[in-house]
Amino acid sequence: MINIYLYILNLHREEVDTMDTPASKPFRVGNAWRNSPGGGNVITSINPADGSVAGIVARALPKDVDDAVAVAEEAYRWGPWRKLRPDQRATTLYEIGRRITAERDALARLQMLDSGKPLKECQNMVDNAAYFFRYYAALCETWQNEVTSPRGEYFSMSLAEPYGVIAAITPWNSPIMAEAQKVAPALAAGNAVLLKPSEETPQLAIELARICSEAGLPEGLMTTLPGLGEDVGAAMVSHPGVRMVSFTGGTQTGRAIATVAGQRLIPVGLELGGKSPHIVFDDADFEKALAGVMSGIYGSAGQSCVAGTRLFVQKTLYKRFVKELVERTRNVRIGMPDDPKTQMGPLVSRAHRDKVAGYVDLARKEGGSVLVGGAIPDDPAFARGCFYLPTVIEGLPNSARACQEEIFGPVLVCLPFEDEADVIAQGNDTVYGLAAGMWTGDYALAWRVARELEAGSVWINTYKQSHIATAFGGFKASGINREKGYHGLRLYSQVKSVFFGMHDRPLGL
Ligand code: NAD
Repeated sequence: MINIYLYILNLHREEVDTMDTPASKPFRVGNAWRNSPGGGNVITSINPADGSVAGIVARALPKDVDDAVAVAEEAYRWGPWRKLRPDQRATTLYEIGRRITAERDALARLQMLDSGKPLKECQNMVDNAAYFFRYYAALCETWQNEVTSPRGEYFSMSLAEPYGVIAAITPWNSPIMAEAQKVAPALAAGNAVLLKPSEETPQLAIELARICSEAGLPEGLMTTLPGLGEDVGAAMVSHPGVRMVSFTGGTQTGRAIATVAGQRLIPVGLELGGKSPHIVFDDADFEKALAGVMSGIYGSAGQSCVAGTRLFVQKTLYKRFVKELVERTRNVRIGMPDDPKTQMGPLVSRAHRDKVAGYVDLARKEGGSVLVGGAIPDDPAFARGCFYLPTVIEGLPNSARACQEEIFGPVLVCLPFEDEADVIAQGNDTVYGLAAGMWTGDYALAWRVARELEAGSVWINTYKQSHIATAFGGFKASGINREKGYHGLRLYSQVKSVFFGMHDRPLGL
């Protein structure tokens, strides 16, 4: 229903140039809406809760990338945006944030249909998307360049300059929020942005482009291309007009993108996968640690880059802790995303659920014991969706594939540890380094362990907290560069140093 509503809205907003597939939602390049010629090239988004069609969008193709880059370059080079003072750009960014908030309920429902996430989580993501625009608007208001103390007869300063056209590529697990995390700072820094959302969840990014335009962002500065990764995504990364790539997604894809960007010598921001250690010392507050571990793995049905997927419990506490964890895992309320009582919704797609189930089968073959879960729920109410039971596994060494590879589902592996040195060694024994968490009453111990863990974010007696102004990103194979806060603005800016001569006499040789 909402799709039809938004579709009709779109029709009234602009002229649609090739409107031959009334069922598919068009995207826009410059001031023209593009539909799928002959109705053939579409992306169909499936609602993972019940298998129904969540929306059909026109599919962008590589030739659309050429057109979108041309439009973005024109808007960037000759339009007013990059020359505006940051405080002037802030006005439009505030307005985008305001409009996202004004459409909160419709956007959250659309996001729920696309991704299968519980409605409350979708509302949080829409709120966060609005906050990103407001936050970067506020940073624009206070942004300062660096003036360096003179060491001669000159005056010098370092200025932040935009790159030009930025390619932003996002995954399916946090639609609109992940997009805003890139688009808001990239625009704040004066760039133009081409956004490619995941083919699993393409609808929110199309709405974001519409909202940017309605908020008064000059035409061409923000284009959403709902295409496939292997053609449109790859075409964006290799396009000579694209000057920087900001990517969030899997490590393998990130590596492929970085290879092309390396050849082209353009900078990248990469936010990649994780296999985060979640540590419980034997002096931890039992109840808080248990709740933290459960929310760290079952929140978002485990489809979170920072999910605490490897549980390390000190040997002296291990049996008691894991027994209680298993009992409580049985009581996690699985349900439909629009039911307020739901604690865990479906996974994003059948294919993804098969992948998660495949990892649990692999863990069994590797000698692991599945203590709870490890199956599709048998309740017929969930038969048409992509649900999977929350799962706890033990008996594997940290070297097992289920302990080393990102499963991206509600699957927790439990590993006992001896002491501080042992857990630091095991915790760091992974190619990833996105996040880590620990529970202990000893803050001196926590501080030492936090410093030793190779992770971009470390949580002590809490988990999965995030702050719009606190830097976020990964160590090792979990990423390059940082988003959020000032780091986010710097990511989309290049530094230019300018010298003003103050000489009384001509320069000598
Ligand atoms: P993915 O890597 O399969 O896809 C991400 C995006 O890249 C999609 O839009 C896809 O179409 C595009 N893509 C695929 N191949 C491409 C190519 N060759 N060139 C350009 N673009 C291409 O990831 P996913 O399955 O959508 O998302 C899940 C992954 O994202 C997990 O690994 C998760 O950890 C990671 N993730 C990381 C963070 C973080 O901040 N570190 C946040 C969310 C998700």
